[in-house]
Amino acid sequence: MVKKYRIGVIKGDGIGPEIVDAAIQVLNTLGINADYIELNAGYEYYKKSGKPFDNELFDIAKKLDAILKGPLYTPPHEKEFKSINVLIRKELELYANVRPFKSFKGFSLREFNFVVIRENMEDLYVGIEGMFNGMAIALKIITSEGSRRVIEYAFKYAKKHGFRKVTVVHKANILKVTDGLFREVFFEEAKKHPEIVADEIIVDTAAYTMVKNPEKFEVLVTPNLYGDILTDLAAAIVGSLGLCGSAQIGKYTAVFEPVHGVALDIAGKGVTNPIGEIESAKLMLYYLHEKFNDNYLFEKAMLLDKAIHTVVENWRILTPDLGGLYKTIDVVKAFEKALAINT
Ligand code: NAD
Repeated sequence: MVKKYRIGVIKGDGIGPEIVDAAIQVLNTLGINADYIELNAGYEYYKKSGKPFDNELFDIAKKLDAILKGPLYTPPHEKEFKSINVLIRKELELYANVRPFKSFKGFSLREFNFVVIRENMEDLYVGIEGMFNGMAIALKIITSEGSRRVIEYAFKYAKKHGFRKVTVVHKANILKVTDGLFREVFFEEAKKHPEIVADEIIVDTAAYTMVKNPEKFEVLVTPNLYGDILTDLAAAIVGSLGLCGSAQIGKYTAVFEPVHGVALDIAGKGVTNPIGEIESAKLMLYYLHEKFNDNYLFEKAMLLDKAIHTVVENWRILTPDLGGLYKTIDVVKAFEKALAINT
């Protein structure tokens, strides 16, 4: 019997609802057997209800098979409103943020296929900051347990996906204690995986190499902040933030969301590129296939991957971020057509 999955849905703020609806429509076209359980969270929800998220959100979320999420807004001008993203990562112990970047023919400057695995709970994102003797101070916290968990995941991921090299990104030449610890744990873990090449790169050189020679990278593992910044850069060399998705792997469940933010400048205009969210839905299918040993979902994920490349590279149904004039709805319709051909 085909398993019915229980998928949590956080639509999010700004362009979130448009792209999450688009991704669910594509999953329905694919024939995925799932119940979608809406979980309320976000700045919009906060303005309506006075709460940043539903009281039961985390209890429900921990029992779900996976969560498909849109971006959430953290207004920089409201000092009291803390990032819900950071809270979700903490509560669900989403320790590894996996962001694959593969070139698209005709859009990306070069051909490449690499994955950035970002530590997702520590570093400056612990959010401990304040004024001390007239100085603004933020704490950068790196633990060996937190580092080991994500680094171990990166080596296992590399092996499972046929990569031969894992590179640690750091700034340990300056931050000898914090980034130094991350680097040290990396080379300790590397000894357990002699078949994988263990390499290192300073974060600024990583930014340069990502633009100049991205084909040199395979799997990169990085502390939180560098991963956040480098993955927007990686999205730019792919062609658009609107094309890139991510998987956040955790203790209880996993959360899938695009790399980009709430894009308030285009929200509600119908021109948002939904492919980053659709790509995230594809990563969710791969995850569910692995977690539940469900080969049917593996086939579906492969079909979706093929459809993404057909719609962008061959049919060029492009939203304005990719230089096109198509609307979000046209992209969704193109997926229906592409999937009808292949299923
Ligand atoms: P952004 O990613 O929202 O937008 C940057 C640029 O990319 C904008 O020009 C936007 O129009 C464009 N863009 C992004 N996604 C697109 C898409 N799918 N299709 C077409 N164009 C797209 O970055 P920002 O403006 O710096 O961030 C706004 C807010 O988003 C931040 O203040 C933060 O609160 C939030 N954010 C949330 C997450 C998350 O929930 N995971 C991640 C990053 C930022």
